[in-house]
Order: sequence, then structure tokens, then C-alpha cells
Amino acid sequence: MRVGPLALVVFLTLAHVAEAGPMARDAVRTAGVPTAETVPETPATQANVRPRVHLVATGGTISNRRGGRLTAKELVALIPGLDGYVTASFEQFSNTASSALSLDQWLQLSRRINTLFREDAGLAGVVVTGGTDTLEELAYFLNLTVRDVRPVVVVGSMRNPSTLGYEGAANLLAGFRVAAHAASRGRGTLVVLNDEINAAREVTKSDALRLQTFQTRGYGILGVVDRDRVVYYRNVERRHTRDSEFDVFAIDRLPRVDVLLTYQGAPGDLIRAAIDAGARGIVLATAGAGASSGTQDEGLAHAASKNVPVVITTRTGSGRIASAGSRRIAGQDLAPIKARLLLMLALTRTSETAELRRIFEEY
Ligand code: ASP
Repeated sequence: MRVGPLALVVFLTLAHVAEAGPMARDAVRTAGVPTAETVPETPATQANVRPRVHLVATGGTISNRRGGRLTAKELVALIPGLDGYVTASFEQFSNTASSALSLDQWLQLSRRINTLFREDAGLAGVVVTGGTDTLEELAYFLNLTVRDVRPVVVVGSMRNPSTLGYEGAANLLAGFRVAAHAASRGRGTLVVLNDEINAAREVTKSDALRLQTFQTRGYGILGVVDRDRVVYYRNVERRHTRDSEFDVFAIDRLPRVDVLLTYQGAPGDLIRAAIDAGARGIVLATAGAGASSGTQDEGLAHAASKNVPVVITTRTGSGRIASAGSRRIAGQDLAPIKARLLLMLALTRTSETAELRRIFEEY
């Protein structure tokens, strides 16, 4: 569909007004001066109809209250002013630490979110709560497998509900606002904590304890959730969500892929052991721009002899692998743990080196 510039301005402004919450809407009603910021309400704005956002709670510190974990229902009840922004619904997918969730459960979760979107055309977006330890992995997995333009927003917290300064409710409110916002569509899965919006592909947990732990090194945040509104500053260029070729309804099981680290004197027999234990792919987190340790050669030769693809990444935290030689696959700028997820999904479709290279260049 082609949208003219005027229609686009009106649409985005209405979306902004719809998102801005009850106070902003009152201001729109009383100000009476139709500026770019205060487009008059028309039937199309449906100002009193809040966008519908569905919470799928999986657990994590955000719900880990002493004496009993908070349920999805209790999480929603914690958020002051939520009704001013959205009509919320919720469900409990699981209620555990992120480490207790299996990859099979991840597949189920992705299928569930795909189904929610498929069966509810009026749903604006989905919020997923989860543990922060593997939150960036879960978010990237959903980024690659939820095939819809509507936003999935992954939220967690660093302090639990029994701790002074628990930030979970604030993160949830921000997550709901982002999920409800029309400008969040088509940006892939988003990670929202600390009033910042990060892209699932790029964000990483950078600190074991600090509240500002989720960072996008190198590229920076996509946008912010401020008191008055949600603001975006940039986009993600790689393929995701609606444009993904990965279909979780066609995948029974994800193949085993292991991540191994390069360090001084790293032994090659760990690579051999992973392959002999059933790994169908290896991600090597090299110390710099792609060089493995010479002591790993034996394992890499074993991988080649068994036709097990090896994806080369960097353990440095940012930067790109430009070339991985003729036999290996450059993991581009993906973090090793994200390259692992992409390789697992890619291996459900192909084991051809050229195809795997294409996938790593596109996603
Ligand atoms: N151990 C927790 C988890 O990942 C940490 C958190 O949620 O922040 O489930």
C-alpha cells in the first residue's frame, strides 16, 4: 500500500496522541488549536478506545517475589495508570527463572505469540516478561520467528518485587506503551528496560547487577520512553519478524549448536567433543576479528571432516567478522550467543555453506 506524505503525518500524529495517555488527550481536547502536536480528534482517532496489548509472562526476577512469584495478573495489577494507555490482557506461559526454560518451550512461546497475532487482528502488540540472564537471546529468537509487523516487547527487571527500588512495574508500563504505539510496528522485537528501547538483534546484558545493564554497544538505542511520549531515533536494517523465512510451526526441535571460546591455548578437543556429542553446528567466539587459536585447529579439522558448519564471531562485544575463509561462515556483527540462535534456525532449512552465508548476511 502506498501512503501519501499527508496521510502519513496525520496517521503518525494520531498514533502519537493515542499513545500519549489520558493527560495528553485531555490537553488535546481543551487546547482547541489544531497544531501538528494537537490534531483534532476525528472518528478515526477513537481516542477513548485504547490499543489492546497482551502480556505473556514467563517468569524471571521481575516476578520473583519472596514467598511466591507474581502471576501475570498480579504484574498487570502492579502498573499504575496502565488503563490510561492500553486495554491490557494477560496470560501465564510459565513462571520460572530464564535458565529453566527449554528450547522446546521457546518454540511453543513463539508459536503462541504467532497464534495470538494470527487470531486477533485488532491486537496492537504483545509484551513478554522474562529473566534478564537470557533475555537478549529470547528477544532475538522472537525477532527471528514471530512473523508479524506488530511489536513484541520483551521486558524484565534487575531488582525483584521484594527489593527496595523494584523497577519492574515501571519497565512494564514502558513496555506496554511501546507495544501499543503505532510507530513500534515493523521494527522487530524490542527490549525495553530503564526507559530505553533496544533492538533485539543488537542489545546485550552488559552488567551483572546494574539497572542500566541492557546496552546496544556500537550502535546505540532505537528510542526512548519519556513521560510525554515514545520517541524513535533509528531503525534496524536486517531482516526480522514479518520478513523472516523461519517458521516455528514447521520446526519440531531445534538442532544442537554449541558456542566455544577462543583463548590462549584453547584446546581443539572441546570442538571435537561438542560434535561427537551431537552438535550440528559450532559457533566460535574468537578473541578478535576471526582468528582461532592454533591449538583449536584439530577440532576445526574434525568439524570440516564431519561437514559441521562453523560460524566465526568475536568475543569482544562489538565489531564485525568480515571474512571467515573459504570453509567457514562469517557471523557478521552478531554476538556469539545470537549467532548460535540464527545458526540453529538456519540449520532447520539448509546445511549448504552458501545458503548459510546468505542467511548470516541478511538477518
Ligand atoms: N535469574 C534471573 C533470570 O534470568 C535473572 C533475572 O530475571 O534478572 O531468570
